[in-house]
Amino acid sequence: MSDAIDSTRLTLLLNELRLPALKQIWSSFAERSDKEGWPAARLIMALAEHELAERDRRRIERHLGKARLLPGKTLENFDFDAVPMVSKAQVAALCAGDGWLRHGANLILMGPPGGGKSHLSSAIGLGLLEKGWRVLFARTSDLVQRLQVARRELALEAAISRLDRFDLVILDDFAYVTKDQAETSVLFELISARYERRSLLITANQPFGEWGKVFPDPAMTLAAVDRLVHHSTIFELNVESYRRRTALQRKQEGPGRPASFATPRNVSRTRRDKPAAE
Ligand code: ADP
Ligand code: MG
Repeated sequence: MSDAIDSTRLTLLLNELRLPALKQIWSSFAERSDKEGWPAARLIMALAEHELAERDRRRIERHLGKARLLPGKTLENFDFDAVPMVSKAQVAALCAGDGWLRHGANLILMGPPGGGKSHLSSAIGLGLLEKGWRVLFARTSDLVQRLQVARRELALEAAISRLDRFDLVILDDFAYVTKDQAETSVLFELISARYERRSLLITANQPFGEWGKVFPDPAMTLAAVDRLVHHSTIFELNVESYRRRTALQRKQEGPGRPASFATPRNVSRTRRDKPAAE
């Protein structure tokens, strides 16, 4: 047949052009197009859209592999009722990213342990990642250790520059680092290097007044806080520990739960309220 094409050669061409998704699906799309009599332009459009969607999906998957987000912590399973000071709409806007990541602005989550800071920050990270932003979640003490090693090897600047590829670095449990761990000034170098260029999301149990424990001297503490808060959104999650609250709730409900508790609405609510294992 004169319009038959050499499918082996087409596969080779698509390989050469690095269009792996097209390689997989062109034959089924072509078959459907023949059967339904699509105009050629429609077929080309469908193929191009498919390749692009697959490319986005693969990129997000790759970034997700590098982001080290907390597993299972999403905005869907975050109970916003527990933190009335943070609105879902505000968080959704942050997850678009454009309004702050483009300018290297920061986000700071403060509050006592168990209030959902790590959960919310990882979930925001995931939301941003799904929009195509690059995110890294790190326990501050781990990152400090890595940067200290880099400094000893005279490669601190390079290590900090490598973090530039992340639009957002999440420093979880910032105030857990103490200056007893030698050279916490690497944190200051990181904050200074990213200032007004690349964003940080910081979670901390202690208010700024306590951050003197983190940095080697008061002047550095002041300079660090100054840079961090200059362009920042601060959420104060001053709520009771979610774990404690849900444990208490379960205890109160006890074995003699009212029958109405088993209605579908309440069942799904119980599941959502149940804190995931850490
Ligand atoms: P923090 O980092 O503030 O100490 P976490 O984010 O680690 O608190 O929260 C402790 C546990 O409670 C985690 O398992 C977390 O998923 C859960 N949790 C906290 N707040 C909420 C919330 N508002 N909705 C759902 N789960 C929550
Ligand atoms: Mg935490």
